Amino acid sequence: MQCKMSKKNLDWANIGFSYMVADKRFVSNYKDGKWDDGVITEDNMIVLSEDAGVLHYAQECFEGLKAYETEDGKIVIFRPDLNAKRMVDSATRLEMPAFPEDKFIEAVEKVVQANLDWVPPYGSGATLYIRPVMFATGNVIGVKPADEYQFRIFVTPVGPYFKGGAKPIVVKISDFDRAAPHGTGNIKAGLNYAMSLHPIVKAHEEGFAENVYLDAESRTYIEETGGANIIFVTKEGGLVVPKSHTDSILPSITRRSIVYVAKEILGLNVEERPVKLSEVENFVEMGLCGTAAVISPVGKINDHGKEICFASGMEEMGPVTKKLYDTLTGIQMGRIEAPEGWIHTIE
Ligand SMILES: *Cc1c(COP(=O)(O)O)cnc(C)c1O
Repeated sequence: MQCKMSKKNLDWANIGFSYMVADKRFVSNYKDGKWDDGVITEDNMIVLSEDAGVLHYAQECFEGLKAYETEDGKIVIFRPDLNAKRMVDSATRLEMPAFPEDKFIEAVEKVVQANLDWVPPYGSGATLYIRPVMFATGNVIGVKPADEYQFRIFVTPVGPYFKGGAKPIVVKISDFDRAAPHGTGNIKAGLNYAMSLHPIVKAHEEGFAENVYLDAESRTYIEETGGANIIFVTKEGGLVVPKSHTDSILPSITRRSIVYVAKEILGLNVEERPVKLSEVENFVEMGLCGTAAVISPVGKINDHGKEICFASGMEEMGPVTKKLYDTLTGIQMGRIEAPEGWIHTIE
């Protein structure tokens, strides 16, 4: 049983998207070739050697998922098994020891249980953001993987991503690259974000909400933005999802869930294929998808001064995007029956 009486006294609808120090976090350390059992602790600070691998050769990866209260008062998380698996893939690519998938899910459960008062109430639009992170704590000076690591999960409540409804945004085609062909674009590593900060600061200065990155090899195909995958809707009401020949798009769990919802629940035609920038003007809706916003509608792309305007316009989400958004958030919030295994209840 969860006690709802003791929730933190926060203005849930207005907390924004920034770090708040919650009460408890999970910490496990890797030493002598194995992970320890891990503990729940109140200490949100980390003391590191000046020579820790993460500080020099950027051995770090992370995940992002959410816990929230459903209509019937349960606390749930959405498809944590996919986050567990993706973190194993990220760690493996960076020569870090994988944190076992079952232990990952257990640790997420423990942290949410330890911070139940921080789970925003149903209907507030706010959620509890869960951030697993793994990094090299061991000393390195020559270039090699460290031999000690820390895996940590903390939580922070985040406000509704869209206050007052999801307004379409304007994005630009970037002249920077996000990910090298066959590089690390397909893993969730901080290093992919470090180099996207300069382009996003520039884009914001120019008045754009996000950068759309093209494939670095040919600068012809749409890949994704700095932190969200992309979906398009055709005139016929089908879904088109960019796929990379060079494996440089991050496998978004939201995008994979949208594809399933489109195909299996809404019966839409779905194509996952390389998408050329030159064909984007044929689409009628565009959206950015990720855990934070689920889907952000895009009204316009600016390609070096040339505007590509979607028929859905700048006032509201297009009808197909809205249907996908309502169905997926309905599943997450317990209003629509979820496909097997998608909703993980915290007991
Ligand atoms: C995390 C992330 C996404 C979104 O993935 P979700 O699993 O849907 O949250 C998309 N692109 C990049 C680069 C990301 O890091």
